[in-house]
Amino acid sequence: MPPISDKKSKPAKNVPTRLRGFKDILPEEAPFWQRAYSVASKLLNDYGFSEINTPILEATNLFKRTLGEGTDIVDKEMFTFTDRSRDSVTLRPEMTAGIVRSYIEHGMFNRTQPIKLWSWGPLFRYDRPQAGRFRQFHQLDIEIIGNSREVADAEVIFLSHLFCQELGIDATVQINSLGSTEARKEYNKVLKDYYRSKRRLLCEDCKKRMAKNALRLLDCKQPSCQPFIHEAPQLVDHLDDESKRHFVKVLEYLAESQVPYVLNPYIVRGLDYYNRTTFELWPASASQSEASTFAQATADKSAGEPAAAVSAPNAIGGGGRYDGLIEQIGGRATPAVGMAFGLERVVDLMKSSKVSLETAGPDVFLAQLGEEAAKHAFLLFEKLRSAGVRAVANFAHEGLKGQLELANKLGVVFAIILGQKELLDGTVIIRDMENGIQEVVDLNKICDEIKKRLKKTRD
Ligand code: AMP
Repeated sequence: MPPISDKKSKPAKNVPTRLRGFKDILPEEAPFWQRAYSVASKLLNDYGFSEINTPILEATNLFKRTLGEGTDIVDKEMFTFTDRSRDSVTLRPEMTAGIVRSYIEHGMFNRTQPIKLWSWGPLFRYDRPQAGRFRQFHQLDIEIIGNSREVADAEVIFLSHLFCQELGIDATVQINSLGSTEARKEYNKVLKDYYRSKRRLLCEDCKKRMAKNALRLLDCKQPSCQPFIHEAPQLVDHLDDESKRHFVKVLEYLAESQVPYVLNPYIVRGLDYYNRTTFELWPASASQSEASTFAQATADKSAGEPAAAVSAPNAIGGGGRYDGLIEQIGGRATPAVGMAFGLERVVDLMKSSKVSLETAGPDVFLAQLGEEAAKHAFLLFEKLRSAGVRAVANFAHEGLKGQLELANKLGVVFAIILGQKELLDGTVIIRDMENGIQEVVDLNKICDEIKKRLKKTRD
């Protein structure tokens, strides 16, 4: 199969092209997406999660209230517009907000808790398009709503890691704790004090972050701001006792279930609603190069030089606990934890880790001659498919020669030929593609006959 090129070829004049930051998922890529979806659905259904699909378009207020003003997503990245009723609506930039809205709206709190959900679909962010970053992208989302215990954090992380493993992706968990909402508020003050004397040297976005939401300063990706991030007071030193205990227990669960993790104090996540556990999954290769860049930055720092920039790795996914969110949008206080995978990145890693998607090719080519035979060929094809025979046909070809050439190219074991005469007689011809020997068989017995012969060639 030819390699997939995602480059925009120069369009002819007046020919529509896709929007900047948007991507076509071409047929060559589809097997990777299908594999990822089938692994996700099997794994999550096995662990008692149910699939949920919420609308792509929601009221803008939902995202403003859940994600928080001052976050990059709300301030700069939402696809928001006014609809024909003059209501402000937004293409969802993440899934959790819609899922908890649905949880409240459908009274899921009245069912036995926790509610374990997963979702799969497109999201929209007006991000600056670059490698691995699109304006429409897809996520697999996993949520456990209604369980405050450490085991829920651990289950989400364990399953995220397992999903990577089952797809042949080597990933590590980078984990941190943000503590309670109160402890975070305290820490925000400490952080503001620390940044005050550096204000002049910060990027324009960070100056705004100082006023609006100091924790976001640790999220900045600007190289010039990295040294300040690495010298900043650490959240982990300001955790409340209950959050510390919770964090240690989550780590114990992970150790016991053999999930490799790295403690990373910079995993603060870009959204306001997280508390306690936050984590990301990084490709193992990124974790290593990231660790060495970080070591370099620290070494430079201790030598009194400005620290080297630590670029943000391309995380495959991330998430955390969000105990206050449901109450914040009008539901009753309900603890919850969740995560999301960026599927474009998952698929890229599947490709680079050379995951084999080899599936068995077809065994049988169904050739048809003449209009009447072509009309009947659909039914015959379906009979073969239902009987478990891997059949292929090309209804665009009319001549037998062309169809047999195609059958040869596909490497099938047998061709089944259905012509006008055979149709009248209630028969078909089976052609052995290796030696060209043809035999007439009863049309009604074709499935058994073909299966018998295929079995013989395999034995
Ligand atoms: P977030 O919802 O920001 O926590 O992101 C979770 C995951 O979604 C990230 O780790 C990425 O893999 C993926 N992701 C986020 N934004 C984008 C984007 N603009 N394009 C592609 N993938 C993205």
